[in-house]
Amino acid sequence: MSEGAAKKEEKPRRFQAIRGTRDLLPPETALWNRVEQTAHEVFGTFGFGEIRVPVFEATELFARSIGLETDVVSKEMYSIPDPIDGYERKLKFIEEELPKLDKRGDTLQAYLEEVQKEFEKYPEVEMLALRPEATASVCRAYIEHGMQQLPQPVKLYYMGPMFRRERPQKGRYRQFYQIGVEVLGGSDAPAIDAEVIEMVMTFFDRLELQGVQLDINSIGCRECRPKYVELLRAELLKVKDKLGPDSQRRIETNPLRVLDSKLESEQGIIATLPHIADHLCEACAAHYAAVKHQLEMRGVIYRENWRLVRGLDYYMRTTFEITAQGLGSQNAVCGGGRYDGLVELLGGPPTKGIGFAIGEDRLILSLQESGKAPAQQGRDVYIAWMGERAHATAIRAAKDLRKAGFSVELPPVEQKFGKALGQADKLGAKYALILGDNEVSEGLWTLKTLADGSQAKYTEPDLLEHLRKQKALSS
Ligand code: ATP
Ligand code: MG
Repeated sequence: MSEGAAKKEEKPRRFQAIRGTRDLLPPETALWNRVEQTAHEVFGTFGFGEIRVPVFEATELFARSIGLETDVVSKEMYSIPDPIDGYERKLKFIEEELPKLDKRGDTLQAYLEEVQKEFEKYPEVEMLALRPEATASVCRAYIEHGMQQLPQPVKLYYMGPMFRRERPQKGRYRQFYQIGVEVLGGSDAPAIDAEVIEMVMTFFDRLELQGVQLDINSIGCRECRPKYVELLRAELLKVKDKLGPDSQRRIETNPLRVLDSKLESEQGIIATLPHIADHLCEACAAHYAAVKHQLEMRGVIYRENWRLVRGLDYYMRTTFEITAQGLGSQNAVCGGGRYDGLVELLGGPPTKGIGFAIGEDRLILSLQESGKAPAQQGRDVYIAWMGERAHATAIRAAKDLRKAGFSVELPPVEQKFGKALGQADKLGAKYALILGDNEVSEGLWTLKTLADGSQAKYTEPDLLEHLRKQKALSS
């Protein structure tokens, strides 16, 4: 047997989407598009502009901003070594040094040794990470493009995939999608916090998302939070034995996260812990009170939740989370908060910031569960053509109908009449446009309404007019 024949018998590997990733297919993608289109529209009315940042960045950018102790950085990031930058730096060094060789009067050997020494100083690789979130990237971009020179605050939104190595389950994926917003600038006026929250609530309202619940809290600032955290730690140590292993560990690493615990057996203990709202410094307490007042002025209904803390390190003061129905335990569709100081932490000018990120996958799931998803996306017109002469007319008819905004299916090969109608039905077409020899020579086209089987003849302009009227009636 020849080698070629042996290869043929090997079963080719059947590739599948990587665990935690998935394909989004029609008709579901129509809902994704509707959601994203609505975001463009609503955010636009609030004066926000879209920013598109890269899908990967230096790992250090995320480590520095999100925090080393967080789950996201300590275990969920997809990080890869990238040797290319080092290579380019070496090339540049040689390009700059080589022309000087003549003047040095050195031996080539000495020169090469020097180059070698120089290269050893370079890191071999740079670690790059698939972005687990986009706030850090937006802050990086704000600094890189000197956006503090623009009229402040700068109001940006983004949408796109994020990557976290988590255990996949309903509403939790390794590649998931976020729609997010950041407001960066010199002011931390409570009205900014309130308007950002008002905007996301308006967006959800426009989508008719069901069971929307907004929770808010203030987690203080660098002044008051550490004192509260110490108090919390002291209280937790007193009840340490009654806590689970995760919470026991968090007493040391991040006591605030204990408040996040969903463990049934810990709920009674957590209820007795001190509330941060009672330990805010004067400035934070005043800010929090003003945010609540501003929300009331905007008719935004909220619930205060003293246990709401965020998973990422950079948050301070206002924090909020929005849940929706139909999602089980992964019911948070939006998380956000204030992060003054993050831009500075990344080497930029002192800047205030607030933002949120919507989990688009969960938003879509919730819309689907409550029946707000569009049904199968049908065609308007299926063109059943027969004969070569009719084919030419059919191509022209398809062009005109599509230009007028109708969705048209034009079969590539001639079909028997019965098969064509069956196909039109399967595709959910509203009409079959029947074009045979008779229709073409008479200049009268037959339009069949598939819902009731009724049939009528039209000239081309009358047909377009009729379809337009019907469409206007049904929308
Ligand atoms: P969770 O507590 O559910 O893990 P989080 O605090 O890690 O959420 P954020 O980093 O605040 O989430 O991200 C904002 C939103 O992004 C979340 O409210 C959620 O809707 C969505 N989200 C986060 N991680 C995932 C994921 N792995 N799959 C799908 N959506 C996600
Ligand atoms: Mg998480």
